[in-house]
Amino acid sequence: MEVVAVPSLPKQLHLYTAADEVINSLLDLRLEKWGLPPFEDWVEGTLPLDPWYIVGPVVKGFGRDSKVLGIPTANLSTKGYSDLLSEHPAGVYFDWAGLSARGVFKMVMSIGWNPYFNNKEKTIEPWLLHDFNEDFYGEELRLVIVGYIRPEANFPSLESLVAKIHEDRRVAERALDLPLYSSFKNDSYLRSS
Ligand code: ADP
Ligand code: MG
Repeated sequence: MEVVAVPSLPKQLHLYTAADEVINSLLDLRLEKWGLPPFEDWVEGTLPLDPWYIVGPVVKGFGRDSKVLGIPTANLSTKGYSDLLSEHPAGVYFDWAGLSARGVFKMVMSIGWNPYFNNKEKTIEPWLLHDFNEDFYGEELRLVIVGYIRPEANFPSLESLVAKIHEDRRVAERALDLPLYSSFKNDSYLRSS
């Protein structure tokens, strides 16, 4: 018998030493690793989700110099969304993003643990896949999250992290053109205010 553990308490992965594999979420279960037929839900490296919705003002992030790396992330106030975020495993997702004065854009984002808060607090780091000539702090950002790409991971170097994020970007850009995901571009949620 083989055992895959999916702890309900985050960050307790080290306690499950008897399991053959410990994963964050059932989204990360790969049956083919265990000699079983794979799930057929994946579409070009992405897992479609029941869409979920978030709106909030763009706030100052952690000043991690993401912009210097060419990956600015429009951090959004997650006030009121801690339950919604705790339901979603840490990882990389993609969405449509609306900024009322600017339009609707493709986006790839990570959901992860904020080390400054307790285990229940997560933050989101949305990268809009568009070149803006200016910052847009304070503007209202509206997100429709439509798919999942991969779990959060540790990388041996900054270069390998940045390379992976660019790969995530390519996956998201391609996926969002598929009818399955592109239909959400017209979701009225992205435009209302
Ligand atoms: P911070 O730590 O304050 O989040 P970043 O280096 O992550 O700083 O830069 C994010 C800011 O850059 C956003 O809040 C936004 O105003 C601006 N910005 C410009 N272009 C983009 C983009 N394509 N995606 C996300 N944010 C962008
Ligand atoms: Mg940021």
